[in-house]
Amino acid sequence: MLAYIGLGSNLKDPKLQIETALKALNEVDRILVIKISSFYESKPLLDMSGPNYINAVCKVDTSLSASDLLDVCQQIEDNQKRIREVKWGSRTIDLDILLYDQQIISSDRLSIPHPEMIDRAFVMVPLYEIDKEINVPLLGSVEKLIDRVNKLDVKKI
Ligand code: ADP
Ligand code: MG
Repeated sequence: MLAYIGLGSNLKDPKLQIETALKALNEVDRILVIKISSFYESKPLLDMSGPNYINAVCKVDTSLSASDLLDVCQQIEDNQKRIREVKWGSRTIDLDILLYDQQIISSDRLSIPHPEMIDRAFVMVPLYEIDKEINVPLLGSVEKLIDRVNKLDVKKI
């Protein structure tokens, strides 16, 4: 299965946090990271205080189920000592499954496509960079959806 994962961090050397998480993902037996976007910097959402974020998106080939892939993502978050504070608050690392094989999933633990992705420049800009043609189930191609976000909200680093 092809899946897309969004990574974000704004604490403890964010760039290193994302690089560490990408390496950890690729070290999982049934996951192969096949593409990584550039890294992008953005301000916290909703005028929250805190350091700027670094975000990236990667494309993986995996034989894991979406639920097992989420377990892996959460294990990586825990390993990097993610502190779960307020929702949308500062974090050492956040891994969100954006897309999983064109599937639509709505369970207690998992919403795919990730509900907020299409309105977030820090997701859509890197996703567009690595795969313009990819389709977001029910919503259309990234190429069409990219105009919903303000590209000036993110800065390629
Ligand atoms: P957020 O990413 O929205 O800031 P968290 O990373 O703390 O918040 O995630 C909270 C919960 O979101 C997780 O416990 C997880 O079960 C759930 N979740 C739902 N859909 C997804 C998804 N597509 N990818 C990652 N987590 C998801
Ligand atoms: Mg998350």
